[in-house]
Amino acid sequence: MRTRKEKATGREGGMPMPGARAVVITGCSSGIGRAVAEHLISRDYAVYATARRVDDLGDLAAAGAYVLRVDVADERSMRECVRQVEDRHGAVWGLVNNAGYALTGPVEDIDMGEVRRQFEVNVFGQLTMARLALPAMRSRGEGRIVNVSSVAGRFTFPGGGCYHASKHALTSFSDALRFEVKPFGIYVSTIEPGAVGTRFIDTALELLTRGAAAGEAPEYAPFRRDLAHCYQRVRNAPRRYGVGPPQKVARAVEHALRAPVPRPRYPVGAVAHVSLGLRRLLPQTLFDTLVRSYLPVPRREG
Ligand code: NDP
Repeated sequence: MRTRKEKATGREGGMPMPGARAVVITGCSSGIGRAVAEHLISRDYAVYATARRVDDLGDLAAAGAYVLRVDVADERSMRECVRQVEDRHGAVWGLVNNAGYALTGPVEDIDMGEVRRQFEVNVFGQLTMARLALPAMRSRGEGRIVNVSSVAGRFTFPGGGCYHASKHALTSFSDALRFEVKPFGIYVSTIEPGAVGTRFIDTALELLTRGAAAGEAPEYAPFRRDLAHCYQRVRNAPRRYGVGPPQKVARAVEHALRAPVPRPRYPVGAVAHVSLGLRRLLPQTLFDTLVRSYLPVPRREG
C-alpha cells in the first residue's frame, strides 16, 4: 500500500515508483529549472531533476526529486539519463527542456566556438533529449515535451543575434515536432518567458565581458559596454523592468504537462505579452525604431 507522500512524489523508499509519470527537467541547478522541479515535486509526478553537477541538486533530492547528472552538451549523459528513466518507468512521460543561457555580443565579433557552444546547449541539446525520449513515448502513445524557449524566439534585439537565433531555432523545431508527434499522442509546447529573475543575466554579463567571448574589434567596444550597462540596470532594478519570478514560469510548465490539450505556446509575464503584442501590431521598420530608441546599438566614433 502506497503512503500519501509516496503517491504524491512517485517515490517509494526513496526511489521513484515505476507507475508514476516520470518528468525529466534539464538545468535544475538554478532559476526556472529549479522552480519547475520544486513545483512538480508536490504534484503527482516522479520528478527527475537534472543538472551538470549533481551536487547542486541536494535540496531537490531531499525534497523528493530523483537527481541525475545531465550536461546537454554531452550526449552520453543524456542517453544515460533517458535509459535510467526508461528502465524504471518504461518511458519518459514528460520532458522539460529548460537548460540554456544567453551569449550576447555583435554578430561579427563573437568567437565562433562560443556561437557553436550556444547552439550546442540551447538547440542541439534540447533536440537530442527530445529525440532520445520520443521512441518510448511513441510506443506508449502518450507524452509531453515542453521546450523552454523565450520571447527571444519571436523577434531579435541588437547584440542578441546569437541567443535569439538559438531560441528561434528551438521554437521552430518545437513547431515542427508539434505536428509530427501529435498522431502518436504526444503534445509539444513552447514556453516563452519574457524577463525572469534568475542567474540568467549574471551568466550573460559574465560571458559578455570575459575572455574569448568578449570580442576583439575595438569598434564594438562601446556597444559591448552599453549592453553590459543595460543588463546591469535590469539586474539592479528588476521590478522596474518587469522581471517576474521563475515560479510563474513553473505554473505555465505545469499547465503544459497537465492540460488535456495543452497550448502550443505559453508567453509568460508582462514583458512577454507586451513585446509580442508590439511585434504583432507594428510593421518591422516601426518595431526597429522602437528597439533602437530603447536598446543599445553600435555607434561610429570619431
Ligand atoms: P539560470 O542561469 O538561472 O539557469 C540556467 C540553467 O541552465 C542552469 O541550471 C545551468 O546549469 C543550466 N545549463 C547551462 N548550460 C548547461 C548544459 N550544458 N547542460 C545542462 N545544463 C546547463 O537561467 P534561467 O533559469 O533563467 O534559464 C532557464 C531557461 O529559461 C533558459 O533556456 C533560458 O534561455 C530561458 N529563459 C530565461 C529568461 C530569463 O529572463 N531568465 C527569459 C526567457 C527564457 P549550471 O548551473 O550548470 O550552469
